[in-house]
Amino acid sequence: MNISSNATSESARFPYSARPLMVLLVDDQAFVAEFIRRQLVSEHDINFHYCINPVDAISTAEKIGPTVVLLDLVMPDIDGLMLCRQFRNHPTVCDLPVVMLSSTEDSVVKAQGFAAGANDYLVKPPDKIELIARLRYHSASYINKLQRDEAYRALRASQMRLEELNMELLQLANLDGLTGLANRRYFNERYSEEWARAVRTKKPIALIMSDVDRFKVFNDHYGHLGGDDCLKQVAATIKAAVGRPGDIVARYGGEEFIIALPNTSIEGAVCVAEKIRADVEQQAIPHPFSDISAHVTISLGVAAVIPQPGTDPATLIKQADQYLYQAKNTGRNRVQGAAFSPDDPVSVV
Ligand code: GH3
Ligand code: MG
Ligand code: MG
Repeated sequence: MNISSNATSESARFPYSARPLMVLLVDDQAFVAEFIRRQLVSEHDINFHYCINPVDAISTAEKIGPTVVLLDLVMPDIDGLMLCRQFRNHPTVCDLPVVMLSSTEDSVVKAQGFAAGANDYLVKPPDKIELIARLRYHSASYINKLQRDEAYRALRASQMRLEELNMELLQLANLDGLTGLANRRYFNERYSEEWARAVRTKKPIALIMSDVDRFKVFNDHYGHLGGDDCLKQVAATIKAAVGRPGDIVARYGGEEFIIALPNTSIEGAVCVAEKIRADVEQQAIPHPFSDISAHVTISLGVAAVIPQPGTDPATLIKQADQYLYQAKNTGRNRVQGAAFSPDDPVSVV
């Protein structure tokens, strides 16, 4: 039995009832249903649905989506208190407002109703004005709750999206657009952290500075876009050659790459640099006008130190850079480097 009804000016007093109200009555006595139906018939915005079998109450509620449930207290098979508890324990209908309908005024029974999870209690036969007022009140607060839940869901979704975008933004701010490696700003940030850690732990930190050999003529020959492709390939090769999770590989300038190797001695760093050099050479990227090789090559400078408190991380960069220039001056396509020494800044290993 599904009875819909019609409107009055009553609804105008309840601006929150933009969503139609739906009353589900669960009662084993048809004449009660008829009585309630008559009381609600003048309310155009209140839909009325009647369920005669309490066993079907929850599935009916799931199907029709009521905004309030009127629940008879005394029914065969399952009594109103038990059914109310079932509503409260059911995942999809647990928040529905339940108004107990009972023929008894007994305050103990009323208390049992509230203890079972009822939101309200009405004595049969309910007064029309009071019934409508209570049904509207409970429906409105339920609709408000649904709207609030929905707003929270939307807020959470937009917060998550915002967090994702912030992460993307952070990534973009930290990465070099061409090669996808860390950029110089991010490198400096991370390198300073690693330097401070090395000071604390008294462990060595190593740097490798590398620069593509005769890149100007490569650009002149292949054009700037061809040069960009070459830089991408060199960057990917360097990245692949540097294995430890704490290592920081960055594009330092145009065709210069820098690698920080925490907890690495000069010997270890020179090995890594030599591997990078060989891997780039093995890529065999044609470089027809280079006087060094038929393929793209890089020169590398390496320096390492166990930093003392209060020392400047830039000193090691300067040192690695000086070894890079030495690698250039001694023929290119090679690695030069030594452990940092403030007295003898550049000595060849
Ligand atoms: P060397 O062996 O001494 O390093 O010679 P080089 O020609 O590589 O050195 P130089 O510093 O004179 O040239 C670097 C060139 O790198 C100049 C510039 O045109 C090119 N370059 C710098 N940044 C980029 C870039 O982002 N893309 C491309 N395609 N070229 C770049
Ligand atoms: Mg160069
Ligand atoms: Mg250069």
